[in-house]
Amino acid sequence: MSLTRTELFVDGHWRKSSDGSTFEVVNPANGARLQAVSDATAEDVRDACQAAASAFAAYRKTTVKERTAILHKIRDLLLESKKEIGEILCLENGKPLAEAEGEVGFAASFFDWFGAECRRAYGQHIPPPAGDRQLVTVKQPCGVAAIITPWNFPIGMLARKTAAALAAGCSVVIKPAEDTPLTALAFAAVCERAGLPRGLVNVVPCSRGRVAELGRLLCAEPLVRLLSFTGSTAVGRLLYRDCADAVKRIHLELGGNAPFVVFDSAPLELTVRGALAAKFRNTGQTCVSTNRLFVQAGIYDRFVEALAEGMKKTLQVGDGMVAGNNQGPLINKRQLEKVQALVADAMAHGAQVVMGGRQPPQGGLFYEPTLLTSVSRQMRLYTEEIFGPVVAVYKFSTEEEVIQMANDTNMGLAGYFYTSDYQQSWRVAMALDYGLVGVNEALISTCEAPFGGFKHSGFGKEGGQQGLDDFMETKYICFGGLKL
Ligand code: ADP
Repeated sequence: MSLTRTELFVDGHWRKSSDGSTFEVVNPANGARLQAVSDATAEDVRDACQAAASAFAAYRKTTVKERTAILHKIRDLLLESKKEIGEILCLENGKPLAEAEGEVGFAASFFDWFGAECRRAYGQHIPPPAGDRQLVTVKQPCGVAAIITPWNFPIGMLARKTAAALAAGCSVVIKPAEDTPLTALAFAAVCERAGLPRGLVNVVPCSRGRVAELGRLLCAEPLVRLLSFTGSTAVGRLLYRDCADAVKRIHLELGGNAPFVVFDSAPLELTVRGALAAKFRNTGQTCVSTNRLFVQAGIYDRFVEALAEGMKKTLQVGDGMVAGNNQGPLINKRQLEKVQALVADAMAHGAQVVMGGRQPPQGGLFYEPTLLTSVSRQMRLYTEEIFGPVVAVYKFSTEEEVIQMANDTNMGLAGYFYTSDYQQSWRVAMALDYGLVGVNEALISTCEAPFGGFKHSGFGKEGGQQGLDDFMETKYICFGGLKL
């Protein structure tokens, strides 16, 4: 049976929205209409929260061994359906099919990891200060978790949160991005196939017009104990504020403004490969994408030439469903216009266009891989996330200067640098004010390591050992009156 679904998944059932409304999902590569998806109402979301609360009452009592079996079953089914989900993802998101299938594998890795990690949610025995007492801590699941996910990794981000939540013993209500609900619904179909208890996982897509109302509802709803969000800093700030009223725990994975620093001693070939990967994966639409590329004066000319060469040789713009294309369209018109505006602003302030700087012949939502030099801090793209296939190159002289520039932002998600100087590698890694640092490596996100930012990039960690903690409460228990 196919995994394509268009209805809401609430309490283990597929259903239309309570007012029967739908919204359209289109293929960004050609504008074709893919599906009309049920548009959740407040009533639907309340039902989903209620279902999740009922499921939680039973699920919280499962043993870790039972949870491991559930998570690993989801892992296996995701891996089995890699091709099918990959295709759904490619069609609604536009990323190349190979990247889409890779993302399904990435999603499965979190079910693999947290399926094992739940067995290590240890508490503590604390040496007591008095003889008639024993002090211990235990970790317990928070309860119902609301999960709001973005369109750029429609199943990767969903899985990183959902796997940790289920491993911790929580139930979930997932609100996927309006551009990419079909992948999230395919995930719900996988959960159904895995035989998950009713209401443990609920998926309630909605249109952009309803998202603010439903977001407020999830923040206010007392049945929801935690909100986990990945998306823009602007929306994260709104949710943070709304969660304050309910004193609700919130976990925020927000935007980035990643520096990528190339020191004079950097190994050229490896660095160019890293720069291409950190910039052009998902057509530059990731929160860990390089936003500012700082190159030291001694290697500057060689590096820019090699990067331009690498871009020409390896980047192929076009529909992600066609083999060989690795630069898909931007997700929507809003995103395309933002990229165009940032490039226009940079050019108006003196940036040089080495390559690209416009739309390719196929038009639509495609944008040419672009290389800008003579970039300076007066330009908007110094502070704003580009989220598109545009490399902005800055020249610098000293390590001190580049650390200052790299940290000169409100954001603090990912930062990268390349060097062959052993001393410099530790020194700079410690100085960068970022939650994730890649030293001579640009693809650093993996289920085994904690992912999360500093400053306006948010707080909380996903993946790694710490990923479970966000979905758990630590309870201290004091046993008194003991006759020992
Ligand atoms: P982008 O601008 O990249 O689409 P957003 O932060 O707007 O990033 O979107 C990330 C997620 O947040 C999506 O699921 C989107 O529907 C959701 N979202 C957008 N606005 C709100 C809001 N006001 N309240 C709750 N969720 C929202």
